[in-house]
Amino acid sequence: MKKAEIVEAKKPLKISEAPVPKPPKDGAVVKLLYSGICHSDIHQIDNGFDVGSRFTCLTDNPNYQFPIVPGHEMAGVVHSLGENAKTCDLKIGDRVAVFPWIGCGKCGYCDNGYSQFCKEKHHTMGFGAVPGGYSNYTVVIHHQFLVKVPASIPLSVATMLPCSGLTTYNAVTTALPAIKKATAFKGKASMLIIGAGGLGLWALQLAKNILPKTTNVVVADLSDSKLINAKERGADGTVAWDPSKSEEDLIKATAKLGNEIGYDAIIDFVNTRVTSTRAFECLNTDGLQVCVGLFGGSANFPLPVLTLSEKGVKGVYVGRLQQLKDLIALVSTNKLTPPPLIYYKLEDINSALDLLRVGKINGRGIIKHEGANDDA
Ligand SMILES: [Zn+2]
Ligand SMILES: [Zn+2]
Repeated sequence: MKKAEIVEAKKPLKISEAPVPKPPKDGAVVKLLYSGICHSDIHQIDNGFDVGSRFTCLTDNPNYQFPIVPGHEMAGVVHSLGENAKTCDLKIGDRVAVFPWIGCGKCGYCDNGYSQFCKEKHHTMGFGAVPGGYSNYTVVIHHQFLVKVPASIPLSVATMLPCSGLTTYNAVTTALPAIKKATAFKGKASMLIIGAGGLGLWALQLAKNILPKTTNVVVADLSDSKLINAKERGADGTVAWDPSKSEEDLIKATAKLGNEIGYDAIIDFVNTRVTSTRAFECLNTDGLQVCVGLFGGSANFPLPVLTLSEKGVKGVYVGRLQQLKDLIALVSTNKLTPPPLIYYKLEDINSALDLLRVGKINGRGIIKHEGANDDA
């Protein structure tokens, strides 16, 4: 099999041949057919990110050392099962999505289904020591982290569900109470989605399926071509954040589209100082700002306004295994149009990453492994 590894910070990934792995006792080996290329893989290649006041260097952590096989969006078929996994409800050949946010399995977070918050981050697939999806086969430590994919979902779509799908599902369901409350108080509510890339387009589709039907969903982006995708997928309004316009004009134009006053919930997939500060200005009293993007930097909120308006600001990081199961059930019964998918061979991963770095993938970049035949 082939794999692509980060061997040195800021250098192209090294592609090499390796033997197909053996399954662990309680787990499985999955023959990957599609693997998503996520922006957070770039942080690993850069070996860290700017957290506002400082740069965090990932390999400062002894559990986080190169080489790394990145990739945490994985879908394929069960290739082999460990001896203890043979009695589970999976069989060889089953179509599965992999839940990569695995924890130690022993702490309170893991025990309660919140393994994404486990302090022992080195169990997460595709980050640090545990190889991920930039490989034709992958080892999953326990069969419970494999979720069966119904025939109604192409595996090319399923591959996005454990990260971009799950994150957006978590973001939209986190915003849901604020939207429901505003709908109850005012008759209808409004949501702003910032960023019309892969995540924003998922969020838009999910918002249209999950939020009350009267909700006005608006999408903001720098790029007009990305906003066309949002319109095609049912956005009630779109706003181009043209950097040549004044901040005041942009806030006014954006807030006007939100039922004339602003938004009861905002999901920020960019989440830089500029977008988060602008979002806060467009957020209604008692509204909720959900921060998702990991582009780096710090925010600048007027604190008395935060107090007086009871606006809420909440981060959302990926999601839970149960949420992934709920999302797969939702996607299997609702016709959701995925973001445009752009396929790459594993051998071409470095050019795909170069394009992703400069925001030139219009949709979601996906590695299509040998033998894959389930394009959306
Ligand atoms: Zn991701
Ligand atoms: Zn844990």
